[in-house]
Amino acid sequence: MIFELSADQREIQSLAREFARAEIEPNASEWDRAHGFPRELFGKLAKLGFLGVCIPDEYGGAGADFLSYILVLEELSRADAGVGVTVAVHTSAVTLPILGFGTDEQRSRFVPPLARGEAIGAFALTEPEAGSDAGSLRTAAVPQGDGWSITGTKQWITNGGFGGTVLLFARTDPETPGAKGVSAFVLDGSDVRVTREEEKLGLNSSSTVDLALEEVKVGRDRLLLEEGKGFTVAMSTLDGGRIGIAAQALGIAQAAYDVARDYALERRQFGKAIADFQAIQWKLADMATEIDAARLLVYRAAWLKQEGRPHTEEGAKAKLFASEMARRQTAEAIQILGGYGYTKEFPVERYYRDAKITEIYEGTSEIQRLVIARSILGLRERELAQG
Ligand SMILES: Cc1cc2nc3c(=O)[nH]c(=O)nc-3n(C[C@H](O)[C@H](O)[C@H](O)COP(=O)(O)OP(=O)(O)OC[C@H]3O[C@@H](n4cnc5c(N)ncnc54)[C@H](O)[C@@H]3O)c2cc1C
Repeated sequence: MIFELSADQREIQSLAREFARAEIEPNASEWDRAHGFPRELFGKLAKLGFLGVCIPDEYGGAGADFLSYILVLEELSRADAGVGVTVAVHTSAVTLPILGFGTDEQRSRFVPPLARGEAIGAFALTEPEAGSDAGSLRTAAVPQGDGWSITGTKQWITNGGFGGTVLLFARTDPETPGAKGVSAFVLDGSDVRVTREEEKLGLNSSSTVDLALEEVKVGRDRLLLEEGKGFTVAMSTLDGGRIGIAAQALGIAQAAYDVARDYALERRQFGKAIADFQAIQWKLADMATEIDAARLLVYRAAWLKQEGRPHTEEGAKAKLFASEMARRQTAEAIQILGGYGYTKEFPVERYYRDAKITEIYEGTSEIQRLVIARSILGLRERELAQG
């Protein structure tokens, strides 16, 4: 077992760290208040290859491995979790599934513009009545000519208003309830209409919108994988996507720890640095330990995925632990900073607000526990055996 990153991985990690420190971190609190980051940032991210880190060169990507991509997400999220999720959804939830499930024609048509950052990807699964139970979605794709006409609404779609490429899930078979009647389509941003920009607790620099589709005509060339196999696409996408969200949580927690540690060494009360009080030392020791534990889970899951090995259980464990850890430890960071931690003078209150979402999207913590339980108890195998 080797716990060292490769030279290439270290290089991309420090490139991402330097970029995030110079271009993102100094602006993050302003973007939090302004509810968005300037579009020029996409150009800068694209120039460094960060919008296609783990996409092969022949498709316009940087050709690095999946762990390198996870390292980039961790560093971006350490500076601004909203930028982190923008890149995570774009890559894990849109570019990678098109690369993995697309035909040669779909791959060469849709992937290079995404990998080069000319189009930003959005993943449209959730609907007002279909959240964790995504298989109950109602957006309907009705056969028309040699394709479909799609009508419905989607809710809370990250990047959905950027007019790029939308991986959208719709019911092609109204007779088959649940997941089996769902298909995946690759749409253009111009096919969807933004009906609302969501106001959120945190993650403000990331755009979250509701979308409407009104009799959008799509040909067979827009169907990803086979008809009725949309849920296979969605579940496999989320298996990998969760590792990205776990990396986002890890980056947020690391940022909170960095601020708390520095503050504890500087802040003086009762004639000494608060880092001299055992109560504060123990908090920092717990933070450092839990961040390390999360990092090992996240990197292991990323490594399994890049080796092409099963990673459903490991990805769910990584996301479950990293997200709950980030929520706990960002709260502890506020505690270490006392009243200052609760103010906007320091970024820890933003980290706390941003951390919470990692327990919710790409599968809530309850759903991660369900995924882990099914795996460790062999429930799927037992269901199959029982017919
Ligand atoms: C900021 C933000 C960005 C998002 N981005 C996207 C995006 O880009 N694309 C997209 O498609 N979606 C996106 N989502 C939607 C997100 O994935 C869903 O919110 C999430 O899957 C949970 O669904 P829900 O909110 O409807 O909660 P619900 O499913 O209604 O769950 C409510 C509660 O019930 C629990 N629960 C539900 N079912 C079970 C069960 N079987 N067992 C135990 N507990 C259960 C949940 O864990 C939760 O605690 C985003 C959401 C937010 C807030």
